[in-house]
Amino acid sequence: QLEDEKRMIEAHELLSKFYHHLLLNTKEGQDALEYLLARGFTTESIRKFKIGWSLPNWDFTVKFLEKRGYPLELMEEAGLLVRRERDQSFLDRFRGRIMFPIQNPKGDTVAFSGRSLQKGDEPKYLNSPETKIFNKSKILYHYHGARASIRRKQQAILFEGFADVISANEAEVENGIATMGTSLTEQQIGLIKRLTDTVVICYDGDSAGIEAAFRAGNLLTNHGMNIRIAAIPEQLDPDDYISTYGSEKFQQDVIGAALTFMAFKLRYYKLNKNLNDEGDRLAYIEEVLKEIVGLSSAVEKDFYLRNLADEFDLSLDALQQQMGQTGAPRS
Ligand code: ATP
Ligand code: MN
Ligand code: MN
Ligand code: MN
Repeated sequence: QLEDEKRMIEAHELLSKFYHHLLLNTKEGQDALEYLLARGFTTESIRKFKIGWSLPNWDFTVKFLEKRGYPLELMEEAGLLVRRERDQSFLDRFRGRIMFPIQNPKGDTVAFSGRSLQKGDEPKYLNSPETKIFNKSKILYHYHGARASIRRKQQAILFEGFADVISANEAEVENGIATMGTSLTEQQIGLIKRLTDTVVICYDGDSAGIEAAFRAGNLLTNHGMNIRIAAIPEQLDPDDYISTYGSEKFQQDVIGAALTFMAFKLRYYKLNKNLNDEGDRLAYIEEVLKEIVGLSSAVEKDFYLRNLADEFDLSLDALQQQMGQTGAPRS
């Protein structure tokens, strides 16, 4: 059993080196390399993150593994190969994709995510399936590589995508990690907690990203973590932002200006509301009061209550009274 897992990891390490070589040094990898460079990735970070290219052939990886004595059934179990329904013959799972190797917390390569090169070639990212060595809810992209930096800065930055982690790294933000295209899990929070209790959430600026940041923020807060939210404007994602505005602006105006979770929630509750509408305005006030009730610090309670009173020209008394009702246990 353990022997099998060792061989699966070995195969991943070996292939990852080979895919990387194909991308950097061969004619076959040229288009993919040009695409990555045109996007703004540097050769240095292509090396650092061991990005690769899988050939478009049906059975390149099959032959590569077979030649080196890896049992093909085991390699199918490892997620590297699939089987043709027709005759049960083996084929490569990843064909003609930009390959991002994925490491477990120990630093062993245990999976891949392959990005398609052409727009419309779905899925955009093809991940390894769940295997004995890869459980995506227990893995964070670049966790192993970011550990030292997370410890040193006592802060982790959580992104949605691999490209965001890599671009941020180029912008000297080296404590970035990402989930695997799913929402944040308790196990992933456990991994972060080993290193720090502070997380900056830096998700995409679209509505999916904002919703996901709200959910991740609540989950992290419930696990006792300190969080901030770095908001990306204009429907960009962190990677787009860095290519558009540069590293310095990203460090200062995005990461450096990250909002407290409360400030983020105040903005969040305003989305899709028209505060000139009485009903919307009351709903907003009610939502904010609920948040204020949940605060543990008396000073913070007072601070946000006053802000709310000022913003809507309400008396503190009325708000406090209302808050008493909001916070009262329901019977
Ligand atoms: P790119 O900049 O290369 O277009 P992205 O990281 O901005 O990629 P998003 O669409 O924002 O891509 O998705 C965020 C993350 O979600 C990806 O990095 C990937 O991990 C995951 N993901 C996206 N699409 C898929 C998919 N079709 N299947 C599995 N995971 C996906
Ligand atoms: Mn997105
Ligand atoms: Mn994105
Ligand atoms: Mn992107």
